[in-house]
Amino acid sequence: MRAVYLDYNGSAPLDPRVAEIMVPILMEGIGNASSIHRFGRQQNTAVDEARQHVAAMVGGRPSNVVFTAGATEANNLALRGAVEGVPAGRSRILISAVEHASVRQTARWLDGHGLTDLDVIPVTKGGFVDLDALESMIDTDVLLVSVMAANSETGVLNPMEEIAERAHAVGALFHCDATQSAGRLPFDLERIGADFVSLSSHKICGPTGVGALVGTRRGLRRLQPIIHGGGHEHGLRSGSLNVAGVVGFGVAARIATQERTSESARVAEARDRLTAALKSRISGVHEIGDVARRLSNTANIRFEGADAEAVVSNMDPVAVSTGSACGSGSIEPSEVLLAMGIPRDAAFESVRFSLGRFTTREDVDLAVESAVTAVGHVRYMARRSA
Ligand code: PMP
Repeated sequence: MRAVYLDYNGSAPLDPRVAEIMVPILMEGIGNASSIHRFGRQQNTAVDEARQHVAAMVGGRPSNVVFTAGATEANNLALRGAVEGVPAGRSRILISAVEHASVRQTARWLDGHGLTDLDVIPVTKGGFVDLDALESMIDTDVLLVSVMAANSETGVLNPMEEIAERAHAVGALFHCDATQSAGRLPFDLERIGADFVSLSSHKICGPTGVGALVGTRRGLRRLQPIIHGGGHEHGLRSGSLNVAGVVGFGVAARIATQERTSESARVAEARDRLTAALKSRISGVHEIGDVARRLSNTANIRFEGADAEAVVSNMDPVAVSTGSACGSGSIEPSEVLLAMGIPRDAAFESVRFSLGRFTTREDVDLAVESAVTAVGHVRYMARRSA
């Protein structure tokens, strides 16, 4: 059986149109983008074009794009940078209970070092931020609210505008980790009211290891850098730019902006065909998260009575993933699923299918066959050892 890749939320495959533009830069591009000689200027022109495409993807301005080594770094910059640039009297940050580890762990680190007080906004059973809870937690001592646009494990979308409005009503900044949604759904930073958004190239079929924090001027002015040096990126992120990576990210952003509406309709159809087939062929199948408000490419599925790690291993060469994180030798269930009120044992049975640009009908059919066999096998082995 040939390999099938259904882990786009983990990392999407590089689009050949992106690779085609990156290769000449890798082969022939010479010079540091901040050098003033002709080689440097050429590199800088290519970076500027990428800035325009990345900004356009989220409705920002090219001059307000800070390139980073990915969304993990962008999230670190947003949280640490805001806390270090703190105006007097503001001591708290709020993050949702379903944030990516790069927001969650940065916030915990800041709290653990006494640099801020962290409060976690609960989510509903559907997996999106509970606005009533936010309302009761937010006050004028809040410096920053950080909530992701779409969750990577469930695909569930958060009410961004309502959250931004509540943050701004008390004078707090609003950071949105838009890593999973920006190239897939229309996104307008100004309309949403985000002060800064985090982006990652490899989720939108660009190269891995490059991303950005895009802000409003007001938002970016409130940040302190976390990487110091030569003062690149308006002093917010020092370090010579990865020109080929940045250009690849720019092309990926341009393609995503042009194609996201049609792509998302096509991918939704494939995802819905996949979930319908899984439900009709396998018993005890449950979709996790509010299916009416989620990304078109994601399905988080619980196969009752079948350990997800075992299912994922048995589905090889079909690549899907579990929400579980392997930490310090023990497998822990996903914090995201637990925050949604899903019991531990059920959380261990959840498998994430994430589709994308290059997913074909045949891929979906193969994945269904593979899941039918894997779940049957894992359930049989569990019964035998019971
Ligand atoms: N935020 C979210 C929501 C993500 O899904 C990811 C990647 N899994 C990241 C941040 C981190 O992105 P990167 O791999 O670019 O550091």
